[in-house]
Amino acid sequence: MQPLRGTKDILPDETIYWQYIYNQAIEILSLHNYTEIRTPILESTQLFERSIGETTDIINKEMYTFKDQSGRNITLRPEGTASIARAFINHKLYQRKIQRLWYCGPMFRYERPQSGRQRQFHQLGIECIGSLNPMADAEVIHLAHKLLNQMKLNNYTLEINSIGNLEERQKYQKDLIEYLKPYTKDLDNDSQKRLHINPLRILDSKNIKTQEILYYAPSLNKYLTKQSIEHFNSVCSYLDSLQIQYNINYKLVRGLDYYNYTAFEIKTKLLGTQNTICGGGRYDTLIKQLGGPETPAVGWAIGLERLLQIVQNQLQIQNNNSRIYIITQGIEAQKKIWKIIKNLENEKIHFELDLSNTSFQKQIKKAIKSGAKLCIIIGDNEIINNSITIKILNQHKQYTIPYENLLNEINQLSIKLKL
Ligand code: ATP
Ligand code: MG
Repeated sequence: MQPLRGTKDILPDETIYWQYIYNQAIEILSLHNYTEIRTPILESTQLFERSIGETTDIINKEMYTFKDQSGRNITLRPEGTASIARAFINHKLYQRKIQRLWYCGPMFRYERPQSGRQRQFHQLGIECIGSLNPMADAEVIHLAHKLLNQMKLNNYTLEINSIGNLEERQKYQKDLIEYLKPYTKDLDNDSQKRLHINPLRILDSKNIKTQEILYYAPSLNKYLTKQSIEHFNSVCSYLDSLQIQYNINYKLVRGLDYYNYTAFEIKTKLLGTQNTICGGGRYDTLIKQLGGPETPAVGWAIGLERLLQIVQNQLQIQNNNSRIYIITQGIEAQKKIWKIIKNLENEKIHFELDLSNTSFQKQIKKAIKSGAKLCIIIGDNEIINNSITIKILNQHKQYTIPYENLLNEINQLSIKLKL
């Protein structure tokens, strides 16, 4: 049996990096009063259809949707924001003026698996809900920046744009279609399909010919009115104050329909084609659209597989290898060892108990293989003499001490051997 295409096992030598990211997220995000939220992985299909947008790739071809035993339409979440908006409404979280939330977990999209693109992947995301203030946009971007720096990702660019409000976009969309119509045949296939259902997404096309055609296309920023422009200018000036560098990219649009005003992406040259690590923006209409009160919000999501692909080697996180290997022989020793184990636990000393019931020699070989530096040995002799044998593996040194001295001895050895 193999794992499903586009899914991966994350083994213990990698989970340490995931735990590191999770712990860093808690540490950094809680400084700004963000708290973790966990929503179900299964949601009703409607939730995503009503939020992400009918003409987007996610809804059209990427969702894992099925009918459950009682015929309900269920979808494995393709992203986190819609579920959080739902939870926000269900639990009346709007009773508090501002909600600062973060999440981390698996997302599911039926895409063509390749480097940096899986069918089950993980996102870490934050949402600042309840404020229209451009300071909120700056806060979330600052936090993405801070987290990425903490993960030792240095080589990246922040691209930012304002995609205005719905009215501005609709006017723009009309003109864009008019401009592109004469070139329909020269557009790539995807863009031809998008021309009438979601023309803004054409701006995102990687096709060179399409990009050439777009060169003289009307620009969305020319359609923005005072309010949108002021919001965008404020965000940019706060980023200047934060000394966060950014490139304004007037062609940047996002793959989900619910965004307005600020849209941004963090990209790196260190990944191939899948070069976007973080995507986010403002979504002031989503919560109302899902039946809640009018509530502005802004947030982002980082793709953790893509991030780890770059930073894993730099982070150099050590596995907490067991440092003390416990060897026993004989039923009396195996009874007595539990008391020792409880003492080690209390002292927060890491250990591994040999379970093989084989000769001392064989157990010592295992200890060496495990990478332990120290063995505690207890057999019939030690039971008779109420003693413990200590073996320092890389020094080939072995000696016996009185049972009561064990913890003291281990504590001293811990310092000496730098355990
Ligand atoms: P892309 O253009 O690469 O498909 P997207 O716009 O669909 O990205 P978002 O919905 O903004 O992506 O998700 C935020 C981040 O999640 C992305 O920037 C990326 O790092 C990560 N991500 C999205 N889809 C996948 C996937 N299939 N596999 C791995 N990571 C992904
Ligand atoms: Mg995508």
